[in-house]
Amino acid sequence: MDGEPADASISQVSRKPNSLPLVTATAPTKHLSMSPPLLPPTISRHVAVIGAGAAGLVAARELRREGHDVVVFERDDQVGGTWVYNPRVEPDPLGLDPSRRIIHSSLYRSLRTNLPREVMGFKDYPFIAKNDKKRDQRRFPGHREVLLYLQDFAREFGIDEIVRFDTEVVHVGPVKDNIGKWIVRSRRKICDDVREAGFGFDFEEEIYDAVVICNGHYTEPRIAQIPGISSWPGKQMHSHNYRTPEGLQDQVAILIGSSASSVDLSREIAGVAKEVHVTSRSVADETFQEQPGFDNMWLHSMIESAHDDGSVVFRNGRVVVADIIIHCTGYKYHFPFLDTNGIVTVDENRVAPLYKQVFPLVLAPWLSFVGLPWKVVPFPMFELQTKWIAGVLSGHIALPSPEEMMEDVKAFYLTLEASNIPKHHTHNLGGSQFEYDNWLASQCGCPGIEEWRKQMYHAASKSKLLRPETYRDEWDDDDLVLEAYADFIKYTSKSQSNSCISQ
Ligand SMILES: Cc1cc2nc3c(=O)[nH]c(=O)nc-3n(C[C@H](O)[C@H](O)[C@H](O)COP(=O)(O)OP(=O)(O)OC[C@H]3O[C@@H](n4cnc5c(N)ncnc54)[C@H](O)[C@@H]3O)c2cc1C
Repeated sequence: MDGEPADASISQVSRKPNSLPLVTATAPTKHLSMSPPLLPPTISRHVAVIGAGAAGLVAARELRREGHDVVVFERDDQVGGTWVYNPRVEPDPLGLDPSRRIIHSSLYRSLRTNLPREVMGFKDYPFIAKNDKKRDQRRFPGHREVLLYLQDFAREFGIDEIVRFDTEVVHVGPVKDNIGKWIVRSRRKICDDVREAGFGFDFEEEIYDAVVICNGHYTEPRIAQIPGISSWPGKQMHSHNYRTPEGLQDQVAILIGSSASSVDLSREIAGVAKEVHVTSRSVADETFQEQPGFDNMWLHSMIESAHDDGSVVFRNGRVVVADIIIHCTGYKYHFPFLDTNGIVTVDENRVAPLYKQVFPLVLAPWLSFVGLPWKVVPFPMFELQTKWIAGVLSGHIALPSPEEMMEDVKAFYLTLEASNIPKHHTHNLGGSQFEYDNWLASQCGCPGIEEWRKQMYHAASKSKLLRPETYRDEWDDDDLVLEAYADFIKYTSKSQSNSCISQ
């Protein structure tokens, strides 16, 4: 792309009762790089949302509430994204082959949420237990209940109607000659039996004012680099392709990583395997600990090397002859469809340069990313990020000048550097997640994260560490649960005001 995209065109809006606002006329106007977007309010944009997971669904809702004209592209045949459990796995268990047939979800069959449902749900659409025997009423429900909740959300807000299912976005790029619009090229699956490239798809190319990327970031595996692994004869897989412990009976398994998935998988596998060895880079080199409650599971420091006789050597000096290594080592940000002529880059898992984790500097606000931060409570953060995006696009909310945004981004990266935080942790919000959420809320004129939600999140995190086996069924924050449910009452009335921006 030459230079920056121009300001998306100002569109006149006409409304029909019970319908989306219609964009009736467009005309390209100013270039964004020169000045902050001082837009008159309530401008309706033609917006493409990529993905109908939790982020895409709430993006669609917030954009529509703001009066935008929205199309959601979803390559699956239903909403829910990650929460659509798929018993199938990819043919390449490590997920290294770029041409492999992608299975989007990384859920394992036994997965229950690692957050209490009160914390996890959208702020104004609480994830409350349904009085219905067919629903999972547990505080930390199984994955199907989250999918049902997202389906309820999509139905309640009429999002299903604007999702193009089985439709994958294959290209997003600025329109040539800088007229300030985006080309979105997509392909709709019309036949499942695709034997030849290109066969079985309907291709379409359209122009949008803005694109909101909600494609998820738990699909493209990151693999640990292990000296000697190429000659190691055992099996390897990434947790993305783990569904059940089937096939691991009496095996010796090594799990790399100490993430939430590793905690769950190691315990499930220890139930059938001969030995489970978990390696973590956040423990001291000499670490070698039998795990409480298990006589066949140990925690080690990192792997030093792997060898052709099947042995794996840890930094603590222990040697284990293993059958399988499971990489619970996280995921890479991946936007194979995005072509910004190098303006947006992904380097060492940093998506850059982004203002407040959402807007690429010179492309703001016409391109945005939802849900990049991790170590967060995702749904409420998606809700606030998308309220912000919707308000900025309509002109209700102003962004700082490009220069100010640039300064902010530079200062952020310098702070990370000064604190020795590696580049690949750029989107790890960890301790500052609620501060970030509250900043977004302040931009939108909305209430921030509820005090009970913060306290409940911290209580659950503590409980998870103390009792990883049982935290989902034992807790001591009933007082906070009562507070949460008292708060939820205000959202049960359908007559509630929909957008806090307009309040
Ligand atoms: C194993 C695991 C456990 C988790 N547990 C929890 C938990 O307990 N609590 C919690 O709050 N969060 C949990 N999460 C985080 C979870 O990912 C988020 O809660 C949330 O579901 C992410 O939503 P998303 O919309 O960003 O992405 P996704 O849910 O991944 O949705 C992205 C959507 O985009 C679609 N898509 C991708 N590319 C394209 C394209 N080119 N064209 C069209 N469509 C496309 C996909 O098909 C998908 O539907 C967990 C994640 C994992 C992997």
